[in-house]
Amino acid sequence: MTPRLFILSIVLIVGAHAAPRTVIKIGTNDTAAIVDTNDAPDLKEWGNKAGTLCVEWFPKIAALLPSDGFTAPKQVTLYFDPKMKGVAHALSGKITVSAAFVRAHPDDFGMIVHELTHVVQSYPPGGPGWLVEGIADYIRIVHYEPRAPRPKLDPAKASYKDAYKTTAMFLEWIEQHHTAGLVVKMNAALRTGAYKDELWTSLTGKTVDVLWKQFVETLPH
Ligand SMILES: [Zn+2]
Repeated sequence: MTPRLFILSIVLIVGAHAAPRTVIKIGTNDTAAIVDTNDAPDLKEWGNKAGTLCVEWFPKIAALLPSDGFTAPKQVTLYFDPKMKGVAHALSGKITVSAAFVRAHPDDFGMIVHELTHVVQSYPPGGPGWLVEGIADYIRIVHYEPRAPRPKLDPAKASYKDAYKTTAMFLEWIEQHHTAGLVVKMNAALRTGAYKDELWTSLTGKTVDVLWKQFVETLPH
């Protein structure tokens, strides 16, 4: 059973020039989400659900992506941006979400789990973006929404460098059929800045290109 007892408190932040802004803090002293829907007040309820989801998934993602000596962040701010295009992005403990995207995709809480994974990843710059995004979607599609429909990959055009769900499905196949534990090891290398392409060979015995070819052969042609 997941504990569902969350403390809900309201914090007032008075800006120097603007009117007071109200944000909602969801969680406990240990693990919390600060939800700021001041600039998209119609998303207040959605934002609170997303904040509750973050509090619930912080420890799960931290357990799925552990590494030696690392303590995962336990606080996140969710800001709903009325002008942002695209979907969302995460930077140093703050997730900025496009209000327009949420209005158009009100069921897409998986996107929040993807962004929260970036907060937990806490990778320094330098790792390959396709793998960073692939791991975020791996957590999303394998662990958060395992029954959601998957994209149909085109064997002729797809590449592991496509990132997101394509890379996530590739990682899932490696975990299930080739080298269990690869994601945790890649995560640890990315987090310490030790990632290099040779890791694929040392961890799996094959280059990433050879693994990808084998994965593609399993796809419906
Ligand atoms: Zn991402």
